[in-house]
Amino acid sequence: MLFTRLRLTGFKSFVDPTDLMIKEGLTGVVGPNGCGKSNLLEALRWVMGENRPKAMRGGGMEDVIFAGASSRPARNFAEVGLIIDNSDRLAPAGFNDEDQLEIIRRITRDVGSAYKVNSKDVRARDVQMLFADASTGAHSPALVRQGQISELINAKPKSRRRILEEAAGISGLYQRRHEAELK
Ligand code: ATP
Ligand code: MG
Repeated sequence: MLFTRLRLTGFKSFVDPTDLMIKEGLTGVVGPNGCGKSNLLEALRWVMGENRPKAMRGGGMEDVIFAGASSRPARNFAEVGLIIDNSDRLAPAGFNDEDQLEIIRRITRDVGSAYKVNSKDVRARDVQMLFADASTGAHSPALVRQGQISELINAKPKSRRRILEEAAGISGLYQRRHEAELK
């Protein structure tokens, strides 16, 4: 599974439709302070099911919607699409019939978030499990926030264990066990 494109509309500072191509190898994003580099990484985490507003540097989840600027009115929704090359057919069962997967998350003011995979409505959990089974996702240790390295160094053993479990690709199983225990 390879991430090939990230599309944003009305997400934080990306008010106009933006299409970021992710080529194989290293992609660098450069720009002055405040131009939106961190917002791009947050968009990636958000479309994979991030549900903690704080992790998006907001007070509530609707804070990801473009809030307006002196010359532009605020938007009513934000949408992020992640396009994945699945020609290796490594996506988890249930999502594995097509060469390309498009995961879309849209948040509308006063309505909340809705997710689609290849135009089909799915639940947040389906998207979270899709990525957890592929050893990635909103909490993947591969996505390093500004300031996260020092947090990692000071982490308590329990949260460090979570990080290791995600790196080992077993967090999907862990979540299923937790849900089974609740039943
Ligand atoms: P640095 O180099 O300092 O880390 P950066 O390129 O990572 O900067 P970001 O933190 O991604 O920059 O972007 C911050 C910008 O995004 C700020 O200008 C902020 O006003 C804008 N922004 C954040 N949320 C919204 C929103 N909901 N609506 C409009 N603009 C927003
Ligand atoms: Mg930044």
